[in-house]
Amino acid sequence: TAAPASGKTYQIGTDITFAPFEYQDASGKYVGIDMDLMEAIAKDQNFKYEIKPLGFNAAVQALESNQVDGVIAGMSITDERKLKFDFSESYYDSGVSMAVRSGNEDIKSYGDLRGKKVAVKTGTQGYTVAESLAGEYGFTIVPFDDSAQMYDDVKGGNSVATFDDKPVLAYGQNQGNGLQVVEEIEMVKGGSYGFAVSKGQNAELLKMFNDGLTNVRNSGEFDRILANYLGENA
Ligand code: GLN
Repeated sequence: TAAPASGKTYQIGTDITFAPFEYQDASGKYVGIDMDLMEAIAKDQNFKYEIKPLGFNAAVQALESNQVDGVIAGMSITDERKLKFDFSESYYDSGVSMAVRSGNEDIKSYGDLRGKKVAVKTGTQGYTVAESLAGEYGFTIVPFDDSAQMYDDVKGGNSVATFDDKPVLAYGQNQGNGLQVVEEIEMVKGGSYGFAVSKGQNAELLKMFNDGLTNVRNSGEFDRILANYLGENA
């Protein structure tokens, strides 16, 4: 592996709280599947980078205005985003589910949301899904910038539900975060995660990410990272 021609330190935007993909451990260090994957790829491809935990929407906007070189944030590869960004190969399949406060058995279908509030994170697929249903099912969207505030709004009872990525909701539920996935509602599929760079701006970084991803997959390191956060069934 050769050193990148530029020898620069790439600035990589990410979300603030999106466990198990990115979150702070007890010492304040950012950990998670995305963080470990980035580290493994940078090591394999011999480039330097710095993580900027900006929040999801802010990270995507920073990428759009070229204030960061890339984003890794459980970011779904969508046709709309492909107009603005170049994506790596996908590295994790995801989709959107709905969750409510643990023990709340009153919300089993979209119809149960009528007249109620639903918390979502600005700029996400969860937001898009909620927005597409709000009119028909008569609920109000309450937007937040980060998942912790969004979850608190549901736990506190202001909102009755949230739409967020299924693997993130499921991980939180297993950790006892106070929310439970409504399994009666089918996950809205689509939204495999990719690493994004500005369109046409960072071919070198994107190629290194893809090459490194192939290598850490083939070496078994990516499986070890997944198992470390998700258990052996990952
Ligand atoms: N995967 C979702 C999206 O891309 C949510 C990402 C996130 O909240 N970090 O919109």
